[in-house]
Amino acid sequence: MDRQLTLMVVHAHPDDECLSTGGILARYTEEGIRTVLVTCTNGEQGDDQGGVKPGEAGHDAAAVAERRLAELRESVAHLGLDHLELLGYRDSGMEGWDANAHPDAFANVPVETAAARLAALMEHYRPQVVVTYDETGGGGYGHPDHVQAHRITVAAVESTGIPDKFYYTAIPRAAIKQMFETMREHGIDLGDFTPSDDFGTPDERVSGIVDVSPYVERKLKALQAHESQGENIFLFRMPEEAQQQAFSHEAFERVLCKVDAPDREEDLFAGLRDA
Ligand SMILES: [Zn+2]
Repeated sequence: MDRQLTLMVVHAHPDDECLSTGGILARYTEEGIRTVLVTCTNGEQGDDQGGVKPGEAGHDAAAVAERRLAELRESVAHLGLDHLELLGYRDSGMEGWDANAHPDAFANVPVETAAARLAALMEHYRPQVVVTYDETGGGGYGHPDHVQAHRITVAAVESTGIPDKFYYTAIPRAAIKQMFETMREHGIDLGDFTPSDDFGTPDERVSGIVDVSPYVERKLKALQAHESQGENIFLFRMPEEAQQQAFSHEAFERVLCKVDAPDREEDLFAGLRDA
């Protein structure tokens, strides 16, 4: 049977591709699997030059979007992936921001409208494996655009019936605990910040952990490509050991599997390679 193995990863903003999925995008591309990144918004609600925040005087949303899409292309080049698809929706901003009310904001687009566009991309690429966030937008993150990305992906997976396996990105609570311990050992002052018990993905929901340690450097380079948002990327301020911990494995929750694959996986394409 001659078919092209294909991975489709759906993210909300430029820069979201790096941390939770940069390793699988780099690794599977290198293995000869076709990889498709779908980014739903243009990131208009990011920082402008000089750290000017959205809503502050001088914040130019169009210029921010243009810069962030250029950064996204650079990030994608570091990861080496084959196909970048932009849905081009307007960034809704964090929950409670004025930008939430914009009629064109991604979170205000009817799910079926945006899902139909994603479904068309699934028809085109025929991905066996699809990855996006869980219903909280990823380990409890809650950003309206991440929740919307989840909704449209679930709808497109259901309406097309194309993917054989469907995953949510996961941030295992055990890994979060370990990372914070490392920070403390390095004497990093976390102030009053301790992750609450419900931060991250419950460990029992994590069914796949992929070793991407050979790709840590490329993930870091991809993340650094998003230079204009550097102030918001806390991982840059972490000691190298904690960065290695945070970057070397990517975790997933499998929510659909139509093929024969083990319950606990180290490869998202398990069960698909010999078909
Ligand atoms: Zn995001």
